[in-house]
Amino acid sequence: DEHDSFTKPVATSEGSTSVNADGIQRQLTGVYNTDPTDDIPPLLGNDAPFGQTANAASVSAQQLSEPEPVFHLRSRTAAVNAESAQAAIEQDTYESLDYEVCENKLFLEEERRWLSERFSLRKGIMRWIIFIQIGIITALIACVIDIVIETLSEVKYNILKKSVDENTPMRQESSDLVWPYLYWIAWSIVPVLIGTTMVTFIEPITAGSGMPQVKSYLNGVKIPRIVRIKTLAVKTIGVITSVVGGLAGGKEGPMIHSGAVVAAGLSQGKSTTFVKDFHIFKAFRDDHEKRDFVLGGAAAGVAAAFGAPIGGMLFSLEEAASFWNQNLIWRTLVASIISSFTLNIVLSAYHGLQSLTFTGLFNLGKFDQPLTFNYYELPLFMLLGITGGLLGAAWNSLNTKINGFRRRYFRWKLARVCEAVMVAILGVTLACMMIYLINDCRPLGNDPTAYPVQLFCEDNEYNAVAALWFQTPEATVRALFHDPPGSHKILSLTIFTIVYYILSCLTFGLNVSLGVFIPTALVGAAWGRLFAMLLFYTFPEASFLHPGKYALIGAAANLGGVLRMTISLSVILMETTCIEPSFFFPLIITLISAKWVGDYFNEGLYDIQIEVNHVPVLPWEPLPQYKGLTAREILSKPVICIKLHDSAQYIYDVLSSSNHNGFPVVDDVKDDRRAEGRVRGIILRSQLIVILMKSLYVEKKRFWLDETSIETFRSMYPRYPSIKSVRRLDEKMNYTVDLEMFMNPSPVRVNAHDSVPKIFNIFRALGLRHLLVIDNENRIAGIITRRDFLYK
Ligand code: ATP
Ligand code: MG
Repeated sequence: DEHDSFTKPVATSEGSTSVNADGIQRQLTGVYNTDPTDDIPPLLGNDAPFGQTANAASVSAQQLSEPEPVFHLRSRTAAVNAESAQAAIEQDTYESLDYEVCENKLFLEEERRWLSERFSLRKGIMRWIIFIQIGIITALIACVIDIVIETLSEVKYNILKKSVDENTPMRQESSDLVWPYLYWIAWSIVPVLIGTTMVTFIEPITAGSGMPQVKSYLNGVKIPRIVRIKTLAVKTIGVITSVVGGLAGGKEGPMIHSGAVVAAGLSQGKSTTFVKDFHIFKAFRDDHEKRDFVLGGAAAGVAAAFGAPIGGMLFSLEEAASFWNQNLIWRTLVASIISSFTLNIVLSAYHGLQSLTFTGLFNLGKFDQPLTFNYYELPLFMLLGITGGLLGAAWNSLNTKINGFRRRYFRWKLARVCEAVMVAILGVTLACMMIYLINDCRPLGNDPTAYPVQLFCEDNEYNAVAALWFQTPEATVRALFHDPPGSHKILSLTIFTIVYYILSCLTFGLNVSLGVFIPTALVGAAWGRLFAMLLFYTFPEASFLHPGKYALIGAAANLGGVLRMTISLSVILMETTCIEPSFFFPLIITLISAKWVGDYFNEGLYDIQIEVNHVPVLPWEPLPQYKGLTAREILSKPVICIKLHDSAQYIYDVLSSSNHNGFPVVDDVKDDRRAEGRVRGIILRSQLIVILMKSLYVEKKRFWLDETSIETFRSMYPRYPSIKSVRRLDEKMNYTVDLEMFMNPSPVRVNAHDSVPKIFNIFRALGLRHLLVIDNENRIAGIITRRDFLYK
């Protein structure tokens, strides 16, 4: 049965364009190891990312049985050196999503039927229900992650505290810190090893935070396997293990990704991982609908990670979304509010709900006194913002360098696993050295340290450096915000800042699932607090120098410097610490100065990641080098076209010899010169494959005409089989296909004289995949896809 061979994702079999395959492949064999098992390059710097494209590209023009001028395969002669060949191949790995709704006859039929049956009302209600479900389920996953991390960390730090207490010289003469160190290492290695092994060997796409991937997806790039249940499972375990293992990272990036997976899964009513179709929500099975749900899921993820509903919505709008409208904002907001509300209920039930009133969980802790500021502090905030911008830009470029190094020399899977373990060990070792060498004792009972260890301190005192390390990074951020003045020494905080800055830089890009938000905030909080302490040291009578306030501003500055977001970050910080709306002003001032300064040097972290991996993400504006060009200068030609009535043979040959996904449909012309016909519409590869598989030929019309509807095409979404799984039956090859009822009859067409910025805007705003360029007589002059706006 032909249908059984659909297991491969589309991108693996058709993952490349018609690059000059042989040339590139030859250049590559010596340089890169091609690993056929690792079929798609994961976004975040993993090994052997160039595997499958080279073989997919190795189709040649000779395979075509058609005579001459019909088409030829374009060759990328520019790819002369290995570097640009690599870039070309990486770009070709990613296919686009079809956001344009194909309004063909079948679709219109369905729409008309719906009009009469009041289906659209039902569809609207269903959509709301799905958004609400997305919120709830995302929150439940967040709860599981939260509770497991909390419980395991409690066990871990209790054991560590006990072993430190037992081995301190105050009580035992000859003891040292070797045993606690070994325990700590074990508690670090084991979880990290589990996490990184799963990420590396089961699902490499789960490495990192997942934000760049979600962002690219929402921009219209198909990142294979990003929204699978398997991905979700690995991500969940991955984030738990790496936070428990004590790596410098947080859970919020993975939460966003989890929300996106939940949304994609729920809205489709079927799962590829479990090969299960529930036959519900079928009307939502297209890229357009799915995209909107994924945006809602991302928002719900942020809301659940921070308990920040408005922040969640704004985060998805500011950072993730490439398209939005008012309805979408509403739905996204509902998903994130439901999500944070569910999280609050479940977590407070878990922690013991006193009465049925609920005040909310503030992930980064509530400030006791209202935060106030004086106007003469504003320059200080700006100064902090500028520092954050500089430090953030430096962090981004350092991290990019480290990841470049990784891609070059750590291509072995085992090496990636070892690397993650080494960084974990390094972290523990540095922490132990700090604790051992810096003598920072503080009186007990002054601040809420969860696991105070006495170590070398006097009775009734605890070691403040150990307190910084003996908890999850999130708890340390909370401590830096809320510890009373005088809880830390300048020296210990300085060294802590430096160590954590370097550690977090090393950590992001490892093969583990982790977000950067918390470590970035932690570094910022540390130097922000340090700033206040230094200033207070110089001007002891300046009472406005509340260290917690400056820690918050420092965190904002550092976040702004690394991530370059403004609105959503300030709202998230406000919502998670419950500060007054009047403090919004200092936050925004800080964030904007950080962003401006950082933008002067490089882009935000997520954008850098996207760029490094050559993901064809369309920017908001056309690239500057395209100004002043016309469509003629960027289009591709000759274009492979298909006639309105064409033979099965020709279609089969076109599909198996090229990798394009869209083909203009032209009028029937006698002498078979397809490119000369007038444009009638456009047909997608996926549609053609369904037509061939279901034998929807003119000659057999009476067999299929009644049963064929838009459902026939939708049922195969999203993983259409490749042309290789279509059996080529010789007797069928002479049949004719009539594309009239299947093609999209109203493709977007532009004239060859139109300016590139203008057509870019059309392409971007409508979320197109193919843009047909025609001459004055409506004859095809060329075709433009996403790639042509980026790499020509
Ligand atoms: P995407 O990759 O964005 O999902 P696609 O797969 O249809 O869309 P590609 O085949 O990957 O597009 O595009 C690679 C290059 O081939 C682009 O420069 C594009 O302009 C060109 N191209 C796309 N379709 C055709 C076609 N039918 N005939 C000739 N050239 C095409
Ligand atoms: Mg393509």
